[in-house]
Amino acid sequence: LDRIKLLDHGYLQLVESWGSDERIIEAARMSTDKGFKGWGGKCNCLDAQSLETTVNCKLCSGSGWKVGDEKLLRFLWEHKHYTPFEMAGLTIEVQAPIFVFREWQRHRTQSYNELSGRYTELLPFAYVPSIERLMNAKQGVKNKQGSEKGLSEQAVIDAHWHITSCYEVAWNSYKEMLIRGVSREIARLVLPVAQYSRMRASANLRNWLGFLTLRMEQGAQWEIRQYANALADVISKLFPRTYELFQEG
Ligand SMILES: Cc1cc2nc3c(=O)[nH]c(=O)nc-3n(C[C@H](O)[C@H](O)[C@H](O)COP(=O)(O)OP(=O)(O)OC[C@H]3O[C@@H](n4cnc5c(N)ncnc54)[C@H](O)[C@@H]3O)c2cc1C
Repeated sequence: LDRIKLLDHGYLQLVESWGSDERIIEAARMSTDKGFKGWGGKCNCLDAQSLETTVNCKLCSGSGWKVGDEKLLRFLWEHKHYTPFEMAGLTIEVQAPIFVFREWQRHRTQSYNELSGRYTELLPFAYVPSIERLMNAKQGVKNKQGSEKGLSEQAVIDAHWHITSCYEVAWNSYKEMLIRGVSREIARLVLPVAQYSRMRASANLRNWLGFLTLRMEQGAQWEIRQYANALADVISKLFPRTYELFQEG
């Protein structure tokens, strides 16, 4: 799967995944030792092109449509038998502003490794919201944590100026301190939470779906939602049947 570009300098990239919708069924069937039996679909009896074969077919009971392991997958999901969904998972690499990582890393049950601002210079870019994003960045009234439409044109222009000029001063001060021999761990103190960082995050599928529930939701900040939506896209390709159930709620 290709790297998905996000915001102005960010991305989300699949590193690896394990398991599949079929493996989830296999794990659930450990209890009866029966394994994966197959997905439903058009029954082979239809290929015989004889009405009698279909009427007497035991696989589809004459419907021409086999009920497959989708039924078990749905049962597991709807009855919250979630452990089989822990038998699959994925590791992703993400480049995002530090304030996105602050929200992301509250999800304590994922595993993380992040670029160290003590070992290496931080990435030379900070997130500048687009004009469109700023137009929707009026302090929220209904959602006190969020933004809403309606920031005046002048306020948008001013916000853009404040953001970019502060970043420039901060980055120049950071570089100046490094040139003068100040340690990276101290020089970085001047950088904003909009500075980009990079990490790998790994979790099982159940855990990722929990993350998506919280971070695709409208109440989550727009920036982390872009990452959650991209991750949802990756998950829907790797685990299409599970993702469909997740979407149903
Ligand atoms: C829209 C939104 C707004 C938010 N606003 C704020 C805010 O203003 N301030 C703030 O501090 N946080 C805020 N958060 C973060 C939120 O409180 C959670 O920390 C975050 O969403 C991670 O969720 P989690 O604990 O379910 O995830 P994880 O840490 O990944 O945990 C997954 C699950 O494991 C279980 N679990 C993990 N650790 C424990 C434990 N110690 N004890 C018992 N069960 C555990 C729980 O079932 C939990 O749901 C916000 C989150 C969202 C989505």
